[in-house]
Amino acid sequence: MSNDWKPRTKAIHMGTRRSQYNELSEAMFLTQGFVYETAEQAEARFQSLGDDEFIYARYGNPTVRMFEDRIAGMLGYEDCFACTSGMAAVNGALTALLKAGDHVVAARALFGSCLYVLEDILARFGVEITLVDGTDNAAWDAAIRADTRLVFFESISNPTLEVVDMRHVVAKAHAVGALVLADDAMATPVYSYARACGADIAIVSTTKHVDGQGRLLGGAICGTKDLIRGPIEAYMKHTGGAMNPFTAWTHLKALETIDLRVRAQSDAALKLANALDGHPRLHAVRYPTHPSHPQHDLALAQAPSGGTVFAIEVKGGKDACFKFLNALELLTISNNFADAKSIATHPATTTHQRLPQDQKDVLGITDGLVRMSAGLEDVDDLIADIKQALDRSV
Ligand SMILES: *Cc1c(COP(=O)(O)O)cnc(C)c1O
Repeated sequence: MSNDWKPRTKAIHMGTRRSQYNELSEAMFLTQGFVYETAEQAEARFQSLGDDEFIYARYGNPTVRMFEDRIAGMLGYEDCFACTSGMAAVNGALTALLKAGDHVVAARALFGSCLYVLEDILARFGVEITLVDGTDNAAWDAAIRADTRLVFFESISNPTLEVVDMRHVVAKAHAVGALVLADDAMATPVYSYARACGADIAIVSTTKHVDGQGRLLGGAICGTKDLIRGPIEAYMKHTGGAMNPFTAWTHLKALETIDLRVRAQSDAALKLANALDGHPRLHAVRYPTHPSHPQHDLALAQAPSGGTVFAIEVKGGKDACFKFLNALELLTISNNFADAKSIATHPATTTHQRLPQDQKDVLGITDGLVRMSAGLEDVDDLIADIKQALDRSV
């Protein structure tokens, strides 16, 4: 029955497990281990685990399992393994599924740490990586080969908000038998279209919209039962990347409000993009579903909203951009996003500082680019703050 619920209902009820006390709010099982009635029962559990049986928290825990079932249900996937962070999830999924000699095609516009996992770790173990312009379908078609094992991209890229034509890339990848992994952080769990477009695995940094209030790191790998309880679980449970029960419990509480929060923050992001479009101190405003975005039609065909993050390009280079950032009174300077507090980030000098200039140029990470995360404040206050800071950027 619960499989027929809408995602918003699943986010509140899916996977609920109640103890003998029938508590209303989910219980937090802060326990590493589980005890057995008999030695025979212990032996049997180590042979095979039933749905509601646990042996050690690195392998699984009732609170964590509730969270896994809930987020998998919300995103439309069969199963999930919850991880210590978004990067534990990205690294775990890629490492669990790849071996030396495999070929991977990935979008060039990736989160810095994801690029590190591909280019500095997996390449060291003999995985061949081809990077392409994720917005260019012909580039995907040319790079995906008969022996390509896996395709990886961000549904919406960070920080330049490029959109991948997911149905096209999935069709091309599946035609050669390659698995498709979508890093779904920016698309948000509420507007996620990874499952609808056929991605085999969606990876979510739950640090972002799931927590939504700047507290805990977490990650989730969602996919078919075969992949999740097969190679993914085997790798994660033996290498120690499982989410802890306290994080899972906090995330369960946060999922109860995620629909309201993400809708409000996404509406605010679009309103801010509209209010700032054409501002004399800006070269451009970027937001996937804003009419000025080069992939506006594709973005709207894939999801009703472009998410909670937008970007602006301030005129006058780094100096003017820093004046703008330092003049903000309500928005805070930080490198996180999806928080209830609105945040401004200067990628060129922080999150993407490590990239050589030629790569920044290719990715469009200019000195004037500011990534803005819309929070839950009154939008009029945010507009007023950004405009007064732009006035002081000259
Ligand atoms: C934040 C982020 C990650 C990493 O998540 P953590 O929870 O910080 O480890 C990976 N990919 C994308 C696109 C992100 O935005």
